[in-house]
Amino acid sequence: MDPRSIFIELSYVVASVLFILGLRGLTHPETARRGMHLAEFGMLLAIVGTLVSREIVSYEWIIAGLLLGSLIGVPMGFWVPMTAMPQRTALSHAFGAFAAALVGISEYYLHGAALGVIKIPALSFEVLLGALTTTGSLVAFSKLQGFLPGAPVIYKGQNIFNLSLLAITVLCCVLLQFFPGIAALFYLMLLLAFVFGVLLVLPIGAADMPVVIALLNSYAGLASAATGIVIGNNVLIIAGMLDGGSGFILSIVMCRAMNRSITNVLFGAFGSVGETTTAATGQMHATNIEEVAVQLAYARQAVFVPGYGMATAQAQHVLRQLGDELEERGVAVKYAIHPVAGRMPGHMNVLLAEANVPYSQLNELEIINPEFPSTDVAVVIGANDVVNPDARDNPKSIIAGMPILEVDKAKTVVVLKRGQGKGFSGLVNPLFFKTNCGMLYGDAKETLTNLVQAVHNA
Ligand code: NAP
Repeated sequence: MDPRSIFIELSYVVASVLFILGLRGLTHPETARRGMHLAEFGMLLAIVGTLVSREIVSYEWIIAGLLLGSLIGVPMGFWVPMTAMPQRTALSHAFGAFAAALVGISEYYLHGAALGVIKIPALSFEVLLGALTTTGSLVAFSKLQGFLPGAPVIYKGQNIFNLSLLAITVLCCVLLQFFPGIAALFYLMLLLAFVFGVLLVLPIGAADMPVVIALLNSYAGLASAATGIVIGNNVLIIAGMLDGGSGFILSIVMCRAMNRSITNVLFGAFGSVGETTTAATGQMHATNIEEVAVQLAYARQAVFVPGYGMATAQAQHVLRQLGDELEERGVAVKYAIHPVAGRMPGHMNVLLAEANVPYSQLNELEIINPEFPSTDVAVVIGANDVVNPDARDNPKSIIAGMPILEVDKAKTVVVLKRGQGKGFSGLVNPLFFKTNCGMLYGDAKETLTNLVQAVHNA
């Protein structure tokens, strides 16, 4: 092997090891940042290794692509807020999957049947998954960004139609293995896969998007791995498999967090309009800063439940200040973390880590739920769906079965939100009408700032 080939192979091996170490780092908030840096360095090595490859005949188009990609990617990295991360991720999956599909299309266009019996199946798989992930991710992006309605788009016979379309697409793919020279089969499969991607995601409600995005992430990874087989690039095979595997595990974890099965997510039309919400009886009771400050200052235990509203208000730092103030007064302070609170996996963990809340104070659902009956005050900061008791009490609710943080069992609940706005699922929350629940209206950051002062003076 000549020195250039040794350098390329070595950079691929080191990059692969760094990807694995990076993923390992991401399993814990304390090591996540280091994990990201390792994976970034691995990606840089993989790119450098590829750029010195002998197969590159000219650098002009590569430089143009690099500039164009940076022109889109850098502003996105700087300006897209954390709260818009799911749609940004969906867009990245669409780009990645489209790149994989394009490589497959160009390889087939250039070599056709000459690709041989190993590469044709990998190429068909790559193009099929790449195409459906591209359009599926674009629909997911549009739903999350509000360009398309978040509610499921449903029509009669939908599942049968979609499954038939998938069956025809797969049939084209199978036939292509026997007749690789018939280009019409390839292009028909490509077209149907693009259409199937749209139809797959349209009936899925916005509330199920976290699972769908994780699943599309997995598909994009598998498509890249297949690309690696087609063009004989080892690092692409390894990175694609890591992406595919971890994305699939993430979708299962998200499903468990919402107590749903993957088939139910894909074919159940969760979030359909017209589902039942418990009739909200009584009135919401508005409370005020002074009353809540006294309740908190003289509590034995307070549990903070952050949600999407804390993220939009960027209230994590002042929440930590309130926690510190209460601890100084001898109140036991805990943070309750729901796995789908906010708009991306680990959203609350990231924000609270940014505010230096000790990791030991963060409690997962199973740990904190038994503690609510002995909690004096549960403070809900811009959370809604994840504390909706309908998920537990109303079998007809569209979120029935989703595990919730059972704040309604605390002696007193205080909900910080701006007004009567609904949560991501669009449901009315009966918690707000309970007699032990007080509504503290206003922007979460402003309210918490006033609360810190009031607790200090109490
Ligand atoms: P949520 O159900 O979306 O509720 C957020 C609440 O925050 C709203 O009711 C809103 O009420 C309030 N709010 C908004 N801005 C605020 C501000 N500046 N100050 C105070 N309150 C504010 O949030 P959640 O309980 O965290 O539940 C997350 C939902 O998102 C779940 O349905 C989950 O399935 C879904 N989801 C999760 C992910 C994920 O990966 N974590 C991804 C996509 C979707 P007002 O308008 O009245 O203020």
